[in-house]
Amino acid sequence: MNRLLERLANWRLQYILIVGFALTAAVTIIIGSLITSRVINNYLKDRQDAVVGRDMDLAEAFYNLKLQDISQTAGRLASTRIVRHNLPAAGAGDNKALQAVDEAIQNEIHNLPVGSQRFVVITDAEGASIAGQVASKKQFGYVLAGTDWSSLSIVDTVLTEGRAQSATEVIPADILAWVGLAEQASIPLLDTPKAAPEPYDPREGAAGLVLVSVAPIVSDEGQRIGSVLVGHLLNNDFTLVDRIKEVAGVDTATIFFGDLRVSTNVPLDETGNRAIGTRVSQEVFDKVLVEGEDFTGEAFVVNQDYITRYQPLKDHTGNVVGILYVGAQLASFQQLQDSFRREVYLIAVATVLLAVLIAIPLSLSISRPFTDLVKATHKVAQGDWSVRVPVSGFTEMRTQAESFNTMVETLKETQEQLIQKEKLASVGQLAAGVAHEINNPLGSVLLYADILCKETPEEDQQQREDLQMIIREATRCKTIVNDLLNFSRQNEILAQDTNLNEVLRELAEEQGKQDLYKNINIVTDLDPALGTIQADPLQLHQVFINLMNNAAEAMPSGGDLILRTRKGPNPGFATIEVQDTGVGIPEENMKKIFTPFFTTKPIGKGTGLGLAIIYGIVKMHRGQISVQSKPGQGTTFTITLREQLPRQREEQESSFVLQ
Ligand code: ADP
Ligand code: MG
Repeated sequence: MNRLLERLANWRLQYILIVGFALTAAVTIIIGSLITSRVINNYLKDRQDAVVGRDMDLAEAFYNLKLQDISQTAGRLASTRIVRHNLPAAGAGDNKALQAVDEAIQNEIHNLPVGSQRFVVITDAEGASIAGQVASKKQFGYVLAGTDWSSLSIVDTVLTEGRAQSATEVIPADILAWVGLAEQASIPLLDTPKAAPEPYDPREGAAGLVLVSVAPIVSDEGQRIGSVLVGHLLNNDFTLVDRIKEVAGVDTATIFFGDLRVSTNVPLDETGNRAIGTRVSQEVFDKVLVEGEDFTGEAFVVNQDYITRYQPLKDHTGNVVGILYVGAQLASFQQLQDSFRREVYLIAVATVLLAVLIAIPLSLSISRPFTDLVKATHKVAQGDWSVRVPVSGFTEMRTQAESFNTMVETLKETQEQLIQKEKLASVGQLAAGVAHEINNPLGSVLLYADILCKETPEEDQQQREDLQMIIREATRCKTIVNDLLNFSRQNEILAQDTNLNEVLRELAEEQGKQDLYKNINIVTDLDPALGTIQADPLQLHQVFINLMNNAAEAMPSGGDLILRTRKGPNPGFATIEVQDTGVGIPEENMKKIFTPFFTTKPIGKGTGLGLAIIYGIVKMHRGQISVQSKPGQGTTFTITLREQLPRQREEQESSFVLQ
């Protein structure tokens, strides 16, 4: 169960890290992609506008070329001697003269293909037609003589002012009928979405939009004797728009009469029919026809969106009569845009995937130390103190691992100390009970054995020896019981000002007299700077006697016993060292020496309680005891005590340690 949770936690961390990395990457990349695709879009749009601008320049050039062509024809005819000399006679009904004029016209018009929708009319000074021909859809034909062309304002202007004029003109159906082009001009209006409610010009559908050039005919005497009109009907004629499309590479081109498409290659539907008869959108209507300005931008053309440019077409008086249009399907532009966008997004997705791929090992390397830590923590919780985490990875993780290891070590020590204290406490209680029970009968045994011994006559040597044996052994029992009582009494300390140096000096003197210290040289190295400290002098007595006895017992054949004091290691602390040059303590015993009843001494010699008692007393004083030993060289016990005992803490401590 724990394993599973561990693994789950591990996965979660990895998952969070990977998702975190990926999200960061994704957000950055998506923003980047959006900006990129926007930049590309804007660029494409600019390009598109530029392309449409260029398309319009080309379309205009083609349009003007055609107009120029017409005006050249008109100019040529008007200046031909045959026309100038024969016109008056032809006007007067002279057949020969008329024939000569017709021939001149034929020279111009018969070079054109059938159906080029071009016509030539020659009038007299009043505008009445004298001769004329037309290259209509099906045939070349003659123009009705005697029709009055001065009703066309451009003709009237040329006849009165004497200057040639070329422009895009509206020619009504009845006049077109004179040259047989009325039918050709007729375009039924189709319903068009988004078109203006009413056509721009009421004549739309019947009248024709015509490229017109009119040149005056002047006699040798300088008199205005007539005019030449050359026209090219744009309605239903696709030569110009298709030329613009094919030669200039423009997607679509249209010529509008008013708002009506009269010549176009914009398709009406999927069948590819031309959108003749449809009308321009209201938006363009307003801008180009009403305001007379260019329109550039996206526009709804017939039934879909185009990138467009519209330019007004004006007649010789400057009135807007129609529109020239070029445009590229937005769809093709959008295709380009879409393919760019697709590529940008593809790159974005690939980059995010790459980020995930990079994030996996990275997150693993980050999460592994955590996993190790989690595992280790679980083990510690289960009581395995031997566990350590590997110190590796980034500095922070190394520090973390090191801290953890140190923490486990400290915890382990604390745990051991606690166990020690608990043992001591229970043993202490037990000992106190036992000691009490044994002490009194032991006293009686000793007392009566002593009386018996004294009453035994001198000569009964055997009995006296036996009794002395009882006394000796009972005395030893008493020592053990006393030790036990001491051990059980450690939980009470009576702190008072204590001069450590004095205590040690007295002890050195007293103990030195004993048999045990026969061959031992006691040295004192006492720091005079050390004043009094707060401690229980009787208990400390006990501590030092035990330490000194141990030291002496470790030097059966003599040696040095050094008692040392000094201030420190930190301010407010005092240190006492009891050093000997004895047998030392083997490594494997180091951990056990403070345990009650641990002894290496033969039965009857040691109780194994000495160091346990010392440990308890030192802890009661909130001090520390440590030992350093080299087998064969000697041992040093070091005790650190506080100079002042914090009251409250002491009480807490005492109740905590040994109650
Ligand atoms: P005891 O002295 O009754 O054996 P202690 O608790 O005083 O019990 O000491 C426990 C054990 O620690 C001793 O038996 C001995 O092995 C070891 N020991 C204590 N002090 C010294 C010392 N100064 N040198 C060598 N060994 C020592
Ligand atoms: Mg001892």
